[in-house]
Amino acid sequence: MARTIEPDCRQCRREGRKLFLKGERCLTKKCAMERRPVIPGQHGASRKRVTEYGLQLREKQKVKRMYGILERQFREYYETASKSKTATGAEMLSLIERRLDNVIYRMGIGSSRAECRQIVNHGHICVNGKRVSICSYRVKVGDVITVKENKRELEMFKALKGMKIVVPKWLEFDSETLTGKILANPTREDIDSDIKEQLIVELYSR
Ligand code: SF4
Repeated sequence: MARTIEPDCRQCRREGRKLFLKGERCLTKKCAMERRPVIPGQHGASRKRVTEYGLQLREKQKVKRMYGILERQFREYYETASKSKTATGAEMLSLIERRLDNVIYRMGIGSSRAECRQIVNHGHICVNGKRVSICSYRVKVGDVITVKENKRELEMFKALKGMKIVVPKWLEFDSETLTGKILANPTREDIDSDIKEQLIVELYSR
């Protein structure tokens, strides 16, 4: 599976905000955005002028990095969304949010999207009773997501048992049975309000 090789914390510093790529570490004082919140590189701290194109590009990069998606696939989400009747930006975010790796991240099964990608890749997750190891698999309303039965005794899953996990309202998750359900498609209000998707649409429609 292709993936970005740029170190996680460096990506946050480049985007000038926490992207929460490293799970619990992101909430501690060890976070690089707490210790050194400047753009990496020799002239990072002195970079000031940002063009309109620069703003659009940074917004796209930020979202790609948050979700761990590479350019080609990200553009495909845009192309698919642009054919829908709803607002392109909101639809694009909804499609991305419905990726299986993101869904199990939202359910709290892994502490970061990177960890969730690994969980899916290793075949630990079933959708409607069938093993799915494709991170970009798009879930549908009514899908039941479970941790594969013979993997439930793994330490990382045992630790979740009985834990109180708050999930977005479009999802349901029972930490006792390690089973979740898709109740609805995520709407714009359910997704990070800090994303300015209009900038990404403007960039791709240039
Ligand atoms: Fe980003 Fe997390 Fe690194 Fe902080 S610790 S810079 S939020 S990846």
